[in-house]
Amino acid sequence: MSTNVVTRFAPSPTGFLHIGGARTALFNWLYARHTGGKMLLRIEDTDRERSTKEAIDAIFEGLRWLKLDWDGEVVMQSTRIARHQEVAQALLAAGRAYYCYATPEELAEMRETARAQGRPPRYDGRWRDRDPSEAPPGVKPVVRLKAPQTGETVIDDQVQGRVVFPNSDLDDLVLLRSDGTPTYMLSVVVDDHDMGITHIIRGDDHLTNAARQTHIYLGMGWDVPSFSHVPLIHGPDGAKLSKRHGALGVEAYRDMGYLPEALRNYLVRLGWAHGDDEIMTLDQMIAWFDLGGIGRSPARFDFAKLENLNGFYIRHKDDEALVEDLIAILPVVENGPATLAKLDGEMRGKLLAAMPGLKERAKTLVELAGNAAFLFADRPLRLDEKASAVLDGAARQLLDSLIPRLNSVTDWRADLLEQAVRNFADENGLKLGKVAQPLRAALTGSTISPGIFDVLAVLGRNEALARLSDQAQTA
Ligand code: GLU
Repeated sequence: MSTNVVTRFAPSPTGFLHIGGARTALFNWLYARHTGGKMLLRIEDTDRERSTKEAIDAIFEGLRWLKLDWDGEVVMQSTRIARHQEVAQALLAAGRAYYCYATPEELAEMRETARAQGRPPRYDGRWRDRDPSEAPPGVKPVVRLKAPQTGETVIDDQVQGRVVFPNSDLDDLVLLRSDGTPTYMLSVVVDDHDMGITHIIRGDDHLTNAARQTHIYLGMGWDVPSFSHVPLIHGPDGAKLSKRHGALGVEAYRDMGYLPEALRNYLVRLGWAHGDDEIMTLDQMIAWFDLGGIGRSPARFDFAKLENLNGFYIRHKDDEALVEDLIAILPVVENGPATLAKLDGEMRGKLLAAMPGLKERAKTLVELAGNAAFLFADRPLRLDEKASAVLDGAARQLLDSLIPRLNSVTDWRADLLEQAVRNFADENGLKLGKVAQPLRAALTGSTISPGIFDVLAVLGRNEALARLSDQAQTA
């Protein structure tokens, strides 16, 4: 195992950190941690008009939330333009690049001809060997790479295998635009070289770029890094991932109530496998992650699977930590801010006491918050439709006779309350459910809740009895 692996995550901050980007970051991070190497972060903000500070912050925040830390200082690509230009000059000086004075009209004509012949648009190399003294007046040149026109370029991709590109398909790409600004192709290569990147792991939409970029490395006499081009994530129907199917920013997943550890586990399995292992700790991921385990066909995003995984992580999470997670999501859930306003020490204690029952039933933190809402409800409780139906006249009378029995329980504990309710049901010749149902409706306003004796215990004697009295009716 090499100890000097350096990977990088290089997002363009033109949108938030979307789910595909998060997976790319995770793979780079895991490979670096697995090999004892480093993962660097570079923000590709050279498109000044489309890059926003908001998007840059969202990338940092998304990575932090997923606990994907990077090594060293963040590199902002826009600060390195002078260096990119310097490399273009070096290529010019070495005869590996040239000034091209083709006018926009000429370029349009080349595209037109190519289209007419059914070929992809390509620059025909007309300024490769011409002397700048022949330059037409008033045309500001671009700088183009002098790439080989015959033979082939081979990418030995760690994921895609050996991929061969005929050089006749790769035209002389622009390195510097006519205003002197570097192109994306040049910037990426110069930065990856200067940052000492040994392994490039990114989406396979960059595979052709790898072939073109190779000639910039070769032109400078630089080592070409190892490439791993990961198939993009597709929707459940096999089509490109759409918003409806999960192509959302990481913060949207946070707000939908997914735990970062669950999302991380879900993402690692999206396109990478270690045998049949589905659930893995972070340490296992780090120990097992390798480039050979990345699949060649696109993974399909499956919300149901993510939900199940999230439910698993919720059930297995420590109660205290879940209380913190729940509180953290309250600002964005329905009625959450009102709940937050009521959250004093006592309420927090109730939440913690209710957590073992609550977490068994929730697949997301949003659901967990919804299920916990009964704890915070104002009296008299608003009953949902089903709860109203349960609390008919007979049920309300039943509650009336149950109240003194509960009140006589000296120690307000779930097991003792259960005993009292069972005795009451037996004495009245009722099945336990016949008593539990109205209890649940009156205590929670709903027909779904954690175990009813836990609910009684968690609410505490005063609140529980008051809620029952609110609904009880004398015969
Ligand atoms: N900035 C590019 C993107 O967000 C990635 C470039 C690369 O990984 O080489 O698609």
